[in-house]
Amino acid sequence: MTRLKFQLEATASGSRARAGRFTTLHNEVLTPTFMPVGTHAAVRAQRREDVLESGAGVLLANTYHLMLRPGVEIFERFGGIHRFMNWPRSVLTDSGGFQIFSLPGSRSVSEECAEFKSYVDQTLIRLSPESSIAAQRAIGSDIMMVLDQCVASTVERGVAQRAMELTHRWALRSLAARGDSPQALFGIVQGASYADLRAASARAIADMPFDGYAIGGLAVGEGAGAREDCTGIVTELLPLDKPRYLMGVGTTRDLLEAVHRGVDMFDCILPTALAKQGVAFTSLGRRDLRRAAYRGMDGPIDPKCGCATCKTYSIAYLFHLNKVQEPQGWQLLGLHNVHFYMQLMRTMREHILADDWLPFYRSQRDLLDARDSYGAPVRHVTKAQRQKLKLKMGRYEVVIRDCVGHIREMASGEVMHSVNDPAEEARSLYVEQSRLGERLAEPDAPPLVVWDVGLGAGSNAMAAIQAVEAMRGPPDGPRAARRLTLVSFENDLDSLKLALRHPAWFKHLRHAAPRGLLADNRWSSAAAGVDWLLLRGDFNATKFTAPLPDVIFFDPFSFKTDSALWTLAAFRELANLLSAKAAELFTYSYSTSVRAALLAAGFYVARGRGTGSKAETTIGLTPRAVVDSDGRELAHGRELLGEEWLAKWRRSDAQAPLGTDSSDASWHHAVRAHPQFQTRFVYP
Ligand SMILES: [Zn+2]
Repeated sequence: MTRLKFQLEATASGSRARAGRFTTLHNEVLTPTFMPVGTHAAVRAQRREDVLESGAGVLLANTYHLMLRPGVEIFERFGGIHRFMNWPRSVLTDSGGFQIFSLPGSRSVSEECAEFKSYVDQTLIRLSPESSIAAQRAIGSDIMMVLDQCVASTVERGVAQRAMELTHRWALRSLAARGDSPQALFGIVQGASYADLRAASARAIADMPFDGYAIGGLAVGEGAGAREDCTGIVTELLPLDKPRYLMGVGTTRDLLEAVHRGVDMFDCILPTALAKQGVAFTSLGRRDLRRAAYRGMDGPIDPKCGCATCKTYSIAYLFHLNKVQEPQGWQLLGLHNVHFYMQLMRTMREHILADDWLPFYRSQRDLLDARDSYGAPVRHVTKAQRQKLKLKMGRYEVVIRDCVGHIREMASGEVMHSVNDPAEEARSLYVEQSRLGERLAEPDAPPLVVWDVGLGAGSNAMAAIQAVEAMRGPPDGPRAARRLTLVSFENDLDSLKLALRHPAWFKHLRHAAPRGLLADNRWSSAAAGVDWLLLRGDFNATKFTAPLPDVIFFDPFSFKTDSALWTLAAFRELANLLSAKAAELFTYSYSTSVRAALLAAGFYVARGRGTGSKAETTIGLTPRAVVDSDGRELAHGRELLGEEWLAKWRRSDAQAPLGTDSSDASWHHAVRAHPQFQTRFVYP
């Protein structure tokens, strides 16, 4: 019996994004689709009319909660959930597994079943694959889910493997228990964050005759990067002619990424749960109504949205309702969020069908996740709260500006990447200026080696990794030609560890790479072609152990905090080490004495682009990076400092490179006589 007639309509070029449709016992559903969550047979604070109006074709209901209250017998009396809640379209019920394993309380798992105490009256309840299916048959959903053992995605391998194998055996029992019921049944792929387990599970479950396939056990502790990797691994192995469902995910950006990887169905509580906190998903990114900036603001919360909330109310009014904790504020914002999610799914579908998915995907990636970028910070953090939030580690503390975290060295007060958006600065100063993408696209070249001097909170390194991953593009797309070897130097890892405690404020760290690096001193991605190495200790010593670089991101704290890295002696040592190499060094400093030190050490010095309040920054080039052995110009439009800088330097109070004293003035001649200032200097 074919229970869901899934029809694949289109797959986007350069992506796995798909458009399709299937028919349930109640209606036809167009995919990709989002299923609002009706935990207790109602979407939180939403009227059924408004959920219908949003275009939702499937509602998700939680078997575990419905078994406890109102109880299966009530559904039997009403002939199922559709009549009970008067819902005319499809319902998908989960198996109860996720709640059993994720809610607090005692439970035990055997081959036969899971046993747990009811949170309502503490009675002991046994849930087996058979009893879960029996409950879902009584509830009368259109799509049932198998009972699975859900473990945190970060558990150790042995635990993950045992849970996966039990899930496979339970999947077969669930299929048998379904019998001749006309309700569809989906299998669930488990395997935590282990790529090989995920692949093994996908193969095993895909071999069973389910009507659709779900990816479970994600969104429970792993980073967005790990989740996206797992999703890609699994969808590659699932049959094309059945729907795929990523359970419990996620934000609008998560949905975009998963659709790109070939997922068709989603559910998540976020649209209504965040509405209660005053957060709206909009075409402008996320807007947080707790921000004072919205007080009195006219116009709808999303100018592009056609929902009843946006057609009727101003931001100022919604801000006010949220402020006074009026339940209607929650309802109105939830209505908008559900509508926005459904509209986003329809828009994605249109772009897949029109086969212009890739440009749409690229344009939305950052936009969907953008946070309101103006107005006062959400809250003032008091000293006591700061302790509670664990904002300090070693000599560092976290400071938050406009919901973006920065690391401050407490003794000096110096803040890493003190500009508004560290990720943007990292991208602009280091990734773009070094032409990382262009260099990686060079065919038949050895790995590109990038030194990341001063790992800090990982902004520059992650900007490089994300740039590479963006280049690798869709899972099936073309690969950049060269591998990237990224070598990070750091003598105090507390700044990274501290930032990793607060992924909400250090968005760039929501990726598997930083934790992998901390654990093993290395992280590699075969898919992205990246090897990331960590050299602990002082750069001045460890640099001799690293492969020689093509590019240096020179971003330690300044001279007053990290003095040893900025001296003439240190730059001379570096210049000697790189004498046979074409290498470019990028740094945020444009102080006269730093430039003098680079010049005196033998680097050529060019102006770098500005950032924040700095009009310019600095690029140091080894002689080989200025000309190659054939005398060909390689400067890529770099603007070397000229006579006017030298004149300024002569008048400056800060002529001397850092770390020099009056006993040695050889630097003075070295700067004046530097080839880049010789008249008629074009390129030697
Ligand atoms: Zn709206």
